[in-house]
Amino acid sequence: MRLPKFEHLQPGSLEEALDLLSEYGEEAKVIAGGTDLLVSMKQRLLTPKYLLNLKSLAELDFIEEGKEGLRIGALTRLTNIIKSPLVREKFPVLAQAASYVSAPPLQNMGTLGGNLCLNTRCFFYNQSQFWRQARPLCFKTGGEMCHVVRGSDHCYSVYQGDLAPVLIALEARVKLAKKGGEWVVPLLDLYTGRGEEPIALEAGEILTEVEIPTPTIPWGGDYQKLRYRGAMDFPLVGVAAVLSLNGESCAGAKVVLTAVASAPVMVEEACKLLEGQRPDEEAIAKAAEAAYEVAHPVANIGSTPLYRKKMVRVMTKRAIANAGGRG
Ligand code: SF4
Repeated sequence: MRLPKFEHLQPGSLEEALDLLSEYGEEAKVIAGGTDLLVSMKQRLLTPKYLLNLKSLAELDFIEEGKEGLRIGALTRLTNIIKSPLVREKFPVLAQAASYVSAPPLQNMGTLGGNLCLNTRCFFYNQSQFWRQARPLCFKTGGEMCHVVRGSDHCYSVYQGDLAPVLIALEARVKLAKKGGEWVVPLLDLYTGRGEEPIALEAGEILTEVEIPTPTIPWGGDYQKLRYRGAMDFPLVGVAAVLSLNGESCAGAKVVLTAVASAPVMVEEACKLLEGQRPDEEAIAKAAEAAYEVAHPVANIGSTPLYRKKMVRVMTKRAIANAGGRG
């Protein structure tokens, strides 16, 4: 498949990039690693008139320890996150999750910002134009129906990023920028939960940085990923767990799912059930049950919804037990 025609824009600084984005608005798409965008362009899912190439903006490629925690630039390659001594020392669960993304060649190209801003996926959407034109348009391609959940009034495409659940469990914030200003929001707020438009970025806005606050008490984290092939693939289910520990009991907990909805899902009930408890078998089983209850996968990314739902319970148990052990 060939790429559609586009005009390549190469800004020399973030300021220039924001100027260009503000000028071209919806007609421009930002490209960094390109591992997702170029496939979508070949499939004619996206046909931007301008591609704004951020690859050479060194000011967005860094891993630094700041006053309040770790700061990672949006253009940092996944390989650099995996290998970073700072990440491995401070937030090993992030290096773990990054090492599970796809395969090393794509980790060498893919960036943190690109991974967080992944589009949602669906078997009926991520196909060539030739394949798709055999069916009516669905909500995500501008139509009025869904091929997966018949009679529904919205799109159920699935968010399958691996880093977002971990970073949300670590209470990360993201810095967003547009011409004339920048602001910080909790990472969870980057996701709309709407399959049609899953990322809460307007035209002209980009994600520039991720900030992970330094935990104040001992903690442990783990990420569990179910996928067909261990060497690559998006998750069929992913579970991140981070436990803050006060002696043997759990002072705070975060359990976040991926690949079960159009956005990462914070399992509030599991977090409440674990707080103040010793993370023993009984507490973990209750938290895993809560995760099972909130996961509602549908038949659009592989395997069966029932199997994926059952595996949410299994993966949640493993993630919490490992997080507790590491803490
Ligand atoms: Fe289209 Fe439905 Fe798939 Fe969304 S879930 S991409 S609306 S078929």
